Amino acid sequence: MGRFDGKVCVVTGGARGIGAAIAYRLGVEGCKVAILDIDREAGEYRVNEFRSKGIDAIYIYADVSNEEHVKNAMDLVYQKFKAINVLVNNAGIGSSGKSLEEQTFDEWRRVIDVNLTGAWLCAKYAVKYMKIGKGVIVNIASTRAFQSEPNTEPYSASKGGLIALTHSLAISLAKYGIRVIAISPGWVDTSEWQVPPRKSRLTPLDHSWHPAGRVGKPEDIAALVAFLASDEASWITGVNIVIDGGVSVKMVYLDENIIEEGLSALFQDREVGKMFREVIEKLKSYRSVEDVRNKLRELLDKL
Ligand code: NAD
Repeated sequence: MGRFDGKVCVVTGGARGIGAAIAYRLGVEGCKVAILDIDREAGEYRVNEFRSKGIDAIYIYADVSNEEHVKNAMDLVYQKFKAINVLVNNAGIGSSGKSLEEQTFDEWRRVIDVNLTGAWLCAKYAVKYMKIGKGVIVNIASTRAFQSEPNTEPYSASKGGLIALTHSLAISLAKYGIRVIAISPGWVDTSEWQVPPRKSRLTPLDHSWHPAGRVGKPEDIAALVAFLASDEASWITGVNIVIDGGVSVKMVYLDENIIEEGLSALFQDREVGKMFREVIEKLKSYRSVEDVRNKLRELLDKL
């Protein structure tokens, strides 16, 4: 018996990446799965893969930022499966990384439309069916709702908005027994869940930077979604849960320790990190930057 036998889930952006892993996990645990996605090729591929593994799955072409697509898709899911119990708002896009002055209004609107308005639309049109039985909505946000690199305004704002939408929906829909939860993943390597699957290009440094010792996998997020969507999590609603291998609670100062740690990871050898640290300690005793530069040049010439 699976935890979700007889239940129906809708996973947006479920054709590839994290969404595909979530859809698979819920399907393996007994859910009937509806994937809503704009990537037709990946959507058909994924549904065929699921069916070959005994999962009852359908793919529906739908752009989550398009009201008509979303309304029709939710109606179709209900016609086909006679229920919607779990909605995972996972579909999302990144932003260009251009500077604020170069970001266009169109880019801002598209990212907000897909990442935030899309989740609102899906909740709005799924709730009609979800309130028939108790249901769960899981919104996939991001640690970028709380932390930023430069030039990520549209993406960060969309994810911050999604977390606010989560507690708002949780309070509004509580009367129907519907729980609403946000998950904020950190860095997740989706290579193996792309269509076709790709080889991961992560470096040892990418992994060791994480207190948990590795970058996240889509399966990590899928396992959390499955727990949150299950009855075991029936007292959890309205909150955001960070899942990032510990990165966002790691205090970072740029000093010799972090340089030693980084270089040890890069070369996969503690000794190398220590040696670089010794070099830094020695250079610190030099009186001027000019002296440091000359000594470094001397060392480089010898290499
Ligand atoms: P991905 O690009 O691998 O997959 C996204 C899926 O969403 C694709 O199948 C794509 O076709 C679909 N999609 C895009 N726009 C859509 C739209 N308008 N309507 C319907 N489907 C659409 O991305 P991913 O890395 O798996 O990310 C999934 C979610 O997780 C996103 O919301 C993303 O912001 C979030 N997230 C990802 C990471 C990460 O490191 N990968 C970290 C934090 C949060």
